[in-house]
Amino acid sequence: MHGAIDLGGTKIEAALLNADLIPIKRQRIDTPKDDYEQLLNAIQSQINWLRTTANDEQLSIGVGVPGVVDKKNGLTLTSNLPTKGRKLRQDVSNLAGQDIPLENDCRCFALSEANGGAGAGYKKIFGLIIGTGIGGGICIDGKLSYGFNNLAAEVSHIPLPSTMVAKYNLPLLQCGCGRTACYETFVAGPGLSRLAQHLAGVNLTAIEIAARVEAGDKKMIHVLDVWVELCSHMLDMIQLLVDPDCIILGGGISLIKNIEQKLLAGMKKVALDNTHPPQLLLAKFGDSSGVRGAAMLPLLDNLEE
Ligand SMILES: [Zn+2]
Repeated sequence: MHGAIDLGGTKIEAALLNADLIPIKRQRIDTPKDDYEQLLNAIQSQINWLRTTANDEQLSIGVGVPGVVDKKNGLTLTSNLPTKGRKLRQDVSNLAGQDIPLENDCRCFALSEANGGAGAGYKKIFGLIIGTGIGGGICIDGKLSYGFNNLAAEVSHIPLPSTMVAKYNLPLLQCGCGRTACYETFVAGPGLSRLAQHLAGVNLTAIEIAARVEAGDKKMIHVLDVWVELCSHMLDMIQLLVDPDCIILGGGISLIKNIEQKLLAGMKKVALDNTHPPQLLLAKFGDSSGVRGAAMLPLLDNLEE
């Protein structure tokens, strides 16, 4: 069996997976938001639950976190956890008495989908989660490609293309990262709502917009078309920089009907002439891909040693 912990801003989920990496038991507890020691204790209690449930004190365990984990100094850079300036991997490992690898949750998603998931059989895959935020991960031959700062695949903080800003008179909004006019401000789920507000003057959630598109609402079809155009530019940029043979979509956006076909058509419109678009696929393991990838981390760490 394998253990995984999904450390989120509101919940810490522990998942016990069988030998085929299928989650068989889960336990969720609230995330302590203000105090680092309390956060460490909460993670340790989930590790204890995993060990007891598996009846294995040496159970391999990996952790997925929302944010960037600096490979050089172990610092975990997140905006919604009390981990600023702390070496979370080292502290969790010391408390647990075993090495507990830690990785960005979107990288875990990419790792999972590259190995036995939708990306099986492809050489270079880009896992892209579009939900309340946007994150990604790159896997080459089934292994994560980290980059110098472990920043590779953080495409959502690249600025919107000026052509799109001019074409739709898009406002330059502040992003959660502190900069202005990042892709994330209009391409993440809340960004789709902002687009509906800007283009049609309505206040709707991404789910409500998707429902209206299905019902044939022309204004919302236009909003989604503009969103697809924007997202296609982001995918085109991924192609220009990374040129993967497969992009795997996860997160709330994958609930929009035929979104992968819409984005593939959008990509073909904006891509350079005579280039081959990558396969655009939906995640095979859906919401479970994060814990599945986290459970794989200790296995890979062993491979690298
Ligand atoms: Zn940003």
